[in-house]
Amino acid sequence: MTKSQLKTGLTLLATPIGNARDVSLRTLDALREADAIACEDTRVGRRLMDIHGITLGARPLIAYHEHNAAHILPRLLEMIEAGQRVVYLSDAGTPAVADPGYRLARAVIEAEAGLSATPGPCAAIMALTLSGLPSDRFTFGGFAPNRSGQRQTFLRGFVDAPGTLIFYESPRRLAAALADMEAVFGPRDAAVARELSKLFEEVRRGTLASLAAHYTEAGAPKGEIVILVGPAPETVASAESLDAALTEALAEMSLKDAARTVSETLGLPRKQVYERALALK
Ligand code: SAM
Repeated sequence: MTKSQLKTGLTLLATPIGNARDVSLRTLDALREADAIACEDTRVGRRLMDIHGITLGARPLIAYHEHNAAHILPRLLEMIEAGQRVVYLSDAGTPAVADPGYRLARAVIEAEAGLSATPGPCAAIMALTLSGLPSDRFTFGGFAPNRSGQRQTFLRGFVDAPGTLIFYESPRRLAAALADMEAVFGPRDAAVARELSKLFEEVRRGTLASLAAHYTEAGAPKGEIVILVGPAPETVASAESLDAALTEALAEMSLKDAARTVSETLGLPRKQVYERALALK
């Protein structure tokens, strides 16, 4: 069996996103061997250690999060530069992925001290593997803004990104976020991954429109959520074919229905089609 040798410097530890058994042996070794343990929330770090029978002893357990970073980072750097083995864990999953850790890693690199990590759980990656959406290329978008207008502006920045898009979202905003995604990205395949690695784990797959309709009707689900949006359909409609399809549809139906029908047929974002329909009318 390989014996872990925790290096001097900073080691970022990936921790479970719901199931305590998903912690790696190397992460547990690091928690046992570290000279100091820094955590986003010390209670969470302590609970993980308790579950796995790791005692803290006289070692310092230090809270490091975005609100105290300016104050605590120099202290951690001092310990690291003095040759100590410091580990850092966020509340769940991989540090620095929509979690604190980036500034710390950067500071350690700039100080030319050692930086290591134990790989492990990450909600974005687990959701991608379960989504059934293309996984050869993907873009992680983190959390979108809470308000619809700002969210749509933010989402527009991802319209041309190749591959599957991955976003973290709160269950309360899930339906509204899916509706905004449908307005911005058009009729794409998508998936909602909920409570990954926990008792009520669920992955719901469908189009953005069908998922938005489901959660609008069912109400906010419980638990933690990842939204995945598949790549744009291959066919890109020309301006002429859009105008032709809209002119035909507008002759038979309302502006709203025409925009929806044409957006679905041509695989174009509904907002873009609606704006063009308005201009043509
Ligand atoms: N660092 C973490 C990681 O590696 O995934 C992410 C931390 S971020 C503050 C928390 C968000 O990740 C949640 O709001 C949710 O969107 C997502 N998440 C975390 N655990 C999850 C789980 N078990 N199931 C689904 N989503 C989860």
